[in-house]
Amino acid sequence: MTKYGFLGLGIMGGPMALNLLRTGAELRVWNRTRDKCRELEKAGAVVCNSAAEVCAGADITFAMLADPAAARDVFLGPDGALAGLGPGHDYVDMSTVDAGTSCELAAEAARAGARFLEAPVSGSKKPAEEGTLVILAAGDETLYADAAAALEAMGKKRVFLGDVGQGARMKLVVNMIMGGMMTAFGEGLALAGRGGLDPAVLLEVLDAGALANPMFRIKGPVVASGQFPPAFPLKHMQKDLRLALQLGDELVQPLPTAAAANAEFIRARDAGLADLDFSAVCRVIAES
Ligand code: NAP
Repeated sequence: MTKYGFLGLGIMGGPMALNLLRTGAELRVWNRTRDKCRELEKAGAVVCNSAAEVCAGADITFAMLADPAAARDVFLGPDGALAGLGPGHDYVDMSTVDAGTSCELAAEAARAGARFLEAPVSGSKKPAEEGTLVILAAGDETLYADAAAALEAMGKKRVFLGDVGQGARMKLVVNMIMGGMMTAFGEGLALAGRGGLDPAVLLEVLDAGALANPMFRIKGPVVASGQFPPAFPLKHMQKDLRLALQLGDELVQPLPTAAAANAEFIRARDAGLADLDFSAVCRVIAES
């Protein structure tokens, strides 16, 4: 049976790794903050001392890290993943990063004789727990095939998008749309509130028509509660908007709506909401 590795046991990585373990496979894990390995250890995973140690003992190692800097540090840093990669020890990076970072890691993996796949995901904490993520893969198609059982354990749908970089681009496009939807939602809720309309009735009206979507349905009550426990941390949404705007710049595609949304997420981040759920952007919009 294939031996798996997993690096980065945060909000997403923890439950994704648990789903891998539930396939009955052997799993080696590492996280910068060791405490977060405890649940996986209890469930039967082997906790390693470094990313290199995970990769050296696993056929395929998956990573779910915060951002491009984290993805590079864990891959290229001392005792990093690259030191444990080689023929038969391959790497699937599921973190949301820019295409340039992904291509750089893929080139280093190839130099070491390992196969590389990028596979960022759409979906949040609950889909990660339920194994119903949407996986946006690109890179080595033979690794995509060999990792099928693992990807199936983590996702309900997966697409293969071609060369490395295309998965990252697809993910950034999706999250750019989501960021803009959330600020539009926040402005609508704020305007309704100031106009004497009941936000709960606004949610009901939205849900009954063409604008109905799971995000408004799930985040509406979160915004109303004023509590924002993080499913998708606001700092990561701002990172994705920043990376999407960089992509727009590279490809000479003006993105004025995304730029406006990014400014709101920066305002929320700088107001101390970085670690709350990204729907907390609605709070700064309402308090403007
Ligand atoms: P998270 O809870 O903040 O976890 C981030 C992980 O990255 C943690 O394991 C953290 O380790 C690690 N990390 C950060 N900087 C590091 C560094 N310099 N060196 C080593 N490890 C480092 O974030 P998450 O929500 O799981 O998201 C992970 C990735 O998935 C992000 O790229 C995010 O954009 C993407 N994503 C998230 C969601 C979502 O809804 N949450 C959905 C789709 C995609 P420590 O525990 O030591 O801090």
